[in-house]
Amino acid sequence: MNAADGVRRERLSWRLDRMAEFGARPDGGVNRQIYSDADRAARGELNRWAADLGLELYTDPIANQFFRLVPEGADPRLPPVVTGSHLDSQPTGGRYDGVYGVVAGFEAVAALIESGAEPKRPIEIVAWSNEEGSRFAPGCMGSMCFAGARSVADLADITDRDGLRLQDELDKTLASHPQMHERGFGLPVRAYVELHIEQGPVLEKLGKPIGLVRGIQGCRWFNVTVEGEARHAGTTPLALRRDALRAAVGYIDELQQALEDPDDVIRFTVGRFDVSPNAPNTVAERVGFSIDLRHPDDAVLEAAAARIGAILSLERGGCRATCERIFDHAPVQFDPDLFAAIGDEGRALDLACETLMSGAFHDALFMADHCPTAMIFVPSQDGISHHPSEFTALSDLYDGARLLTRVLEKVAGP
Ligand SMILES: [Zn+2]
Repeated sequence: MNAADGVRRERLSWRLDRMAEFGARPDGGVNRQIYSDADRAARGELNRWAADLGLELYTDPIANQFFRLVPEGADPRLPPVVTGSHLDSQPTGGRYDGVYGVVAGFEAVAALIESGAEPKRPIEIVAWSNEEGSRFAPGCMGSMCFAGARSVADLADITDRDGLRLQDELDKTLASHPQMHERGFGLPVRAYVELHIEQGPVLEKLGKPIGLVRGIQGCRWFNVTVEGEARHAGTTPLALRRDALRAAVGYIDELQQALEDPDDVIRFTVGRFDVSPNAPNTVAERVGFSIDLRHPDDAVLEAAAARIGAILSLERGGCRATCERIFDHAPVQFDPDLFAAIGDEGRALDLACETLMSGAFHDALFMADHCPTAMIFVPSQDGISHHPSEFTALSDLYDGARLLTRVLEKVAGP
């Protein structure tokens, strides 16, 4: 029997429905914050599934969960093939982002076991801690720690909105699942394959069920502050004003025009805008805004960042701007052999595949520094994600899981 034929639509759908109960919102969405009660309950459900399948349970100091299958005749000393994603969601999250990759991992492993496939390497399903970063920023903490980009000590004192400390909430989570065996970060991995919803509109528009993800675009984040002077709105003539809000709007308009891209590949976003003192009858003294800049090509990013710097270095309406670069990440290209292997298996299943870049960050971004890594996307209806109306058709979820099963069998194979 072909292992991919063992993937069951109903069981996949049941598992997704079950996970959506943990942190369910009244509008049908999911709010499952990291290290919350809902998160701990969802973790407990995975532990039960893993025990039912006879998998070994492991965790590490950031509470990533690993479920390990050592197939009959496999060599347990060989680095495993790892698949999975994350369980945590945005506060206004949907039922698929992250959790689908974990659930599909369980479905693939169940299908492999039932088919009697005999890959020579262990296979592990991972649920990374805190990919979203919505309770404790930044996101992707689990994969960052695993890949050595951060240490738990660096993150321990980060607090949430209620002033609760990450380390305390993490300890509570670790203590709630004492049956998991502890292990360290950075274990050798043969390959990491992450299956995820696209969270964008491309696959749906093309009518293709599978996205072969070449890599993840790079990004630069800036905080900009424009300094003016607070004055009375009713008495101060224009010539005497240094209006920080007016200047900030002018800067943003000029930046948007300067970074206009006829091919629509550059992503330039101002998502935060803070006015001080933010009073209707006072000229704004200070405005802060964010810039999120993304592109698949590092040289383009660098050039765009230079444009931004040049525009913001010029005084505007008597106001000065300062621009602080707070985060950057180079574009990542996934492993070409793994990428090609996924394409081959997709063709073998007769699935129409489209090559694309990921616009969003994923745990795969950090795993790519650790081992051969690639991603598979399935379509998102209307490109919507981080919203309760997030939806992917069961037929697409099923195709993604079947492809994942074949890829795991192949890469872990004889
Ligand atoms: Zn995600």
